[in-house]
Amino acid sequence: MGVSRRDLFKAVGAGAVVSLIGSPTFAKKAETLNLPKPSKGSPRVVIVGGGWSGSTLAKYIKKKDPKVDVVLIERRAMFMSCPVSNLWLVDLVPLEFLIHSHLKPASKYGYHFVNAMVHDIDREKRFVYTNLGKIHYDYLVLATGIDYDYSQWVGTDPRDVEIAMTKYPAAFKPGNEHIRLKQKIHDFEGGNFVITVPPGLDYRCIPGPYERATMVAWFFKKNKVPGKVILIDPHNDPPVKAEGFHKAWNEYVKGYIEYLPNAQIKEVDFGRKRIVTNVGDVKFDDLNLYPRCKSAPIVFKAGLVKKGDRWPALRWPWYQTVEDERILCTGDARNQPFSKSGNTANSEAHIVAEFVVNLIRGKEMPYRPPRTLCYSGVDKEKAVWVDLTYKYDPKKNEFAFHNVKMDNTPSKKNWIAYLEWAKGLYRDMFS
Ligand SMILES: Cc1cc2nc3c(=O)[nH]c(=O)nc-3n(C[C@H](O)[C@H](O)[C@H](O)COP(=O)(O)OP(=O)(O)OC[C@H]3O[C@@H](n4cnc5c(N)ncnc54)[C@H](O)[C@@H]3O)c2cc1C
Repeated sequence: MGVSRRDLFKAVGAGAVVSLIGSPTFAKKAETLNLPKPSKGSPRVVIVGGGWSGSTLAKYIKKKDPKVDVVLIERRAMFMSCPVSNLWLVDLVPLEFLIHSHLKPASKYGYHFVNAMVHDIDREKRFVYTNLGKIHYDYLVLATGIDYDYSQWVGTDPRDVEIAMTKYPAAFKPGNEHIRLKQKIHDFEGGNFVITVPPGLDYRCIPGPYERATMVAWFFKKNKVPGKVILIDPHNDPPVKAEGFHKAWNEYVKGYIEYLPNAQIKEVDFGRKRIVTNVGDVKFDDLNLYPRCKSAPIVFKAGLVKKGDRWPALRWPWYQTVEDERILCTGDARNQPFSKSGNTANSEAHIVAEFVVNLIRGKEMPYRPPRTLCYSGVDKEKAVWVDLTYKYDPKKNEFAFHNVKMDNTPSKKNWIAYLEWAKGLYRDMFS
């Protein structure tokens, strides 16, 4: 990973890091965190969420205008990548490939990295409240990613939701859940390992559950596990890269995967270990339950989501919220119908960085859509990809997919490009 103790101390010495670890006590809610500005009158942009969107934004706002004071607040101590994690689950890449430090870019580009949880926002006085103290903002970007919505399949009884979250975690948020899922895959002794695909297209990483099912089946085959993956899918076919996935299921992992399309889940019965669907009941020995998604809790708490919606209302094509023009939502937390992918969040953040700097200067800029380039592994050392952008129609206030290209022929060339793609994006965010 190339992070020496010297680098770490250099960053801490430069005052780039405010960490929960080592702070003697939690600051009182009302205390303001002392974060020095480049100059007294510097405008401050606070970004909540140091994932694909927020990390890119922090760096590129500073690169575009070093006089802007940028504060990146992230509750996790380090970055762990969801993209490529399906390969890590089955030991095809090491953990070091996925994890990255916020310290290097914070000290190199001069933004503050605050390792804390934002638990409230005062929109009137423009403060975010963290467990370390409060921070004033001129503009606030909520790049806070997704949360799971279990209400549709599991219900709202907190006991059931807790079972879903701890016993059968979705592992579509980085960290804890991924580690648990990896243990489950490696400990699986046989039978049905069920994986679910959420309905609609507004879930994180459209091809993600299909890639995961394929790679777990590959792992069972390799280790001669007497079991199979059952993939329960409400869609009639994978919405992207279908040909590539079918090739894998019919050739590379045949007998180790069963695909159930058009299967609408009606109930998840944890007690009897079965999933009730419109095409019949499915018994499971283990389960990776990925439900519908919604925006992260702080977006709801800030009053930016209309009652009954799951995403904040934004001023399309841009990212300012309808409720508050000083607050933007980016990455998977937004409501644009873009693919909720890391590449989209990263390419979008390059554009939003420019937008925010213009906003501070009172200038407008022409709209540019993000790009989605997304690879999926379908066997050891074989991958497929899709590459597209979006088109905005201002008359209809609608987005459409644009310039869609796909390579559905699994190949080693695509596998190498997959890993190089990820390395390139990690470099873009963290070096
Ligand atoms: C298994 C899997 C495979 C995937 N594969 C691909 C792929 O191949 N290609 C691709 O492009 N994309 C892929 N994705 C999707 C990609 O991971 C997401 O689209 C991307 O992470 C979105 O970035 P984001 O910044 O919006 O959200 P995130 O990366 O989730 O970042 C949000 C951050 O906000 C923080 N946060 C939230 N609330 C608070 C708070 N109140 N206070 C402080 N911090 C907070 C969270 O801790 C988190 O770090 C995959 C995802 C998964 C799970």
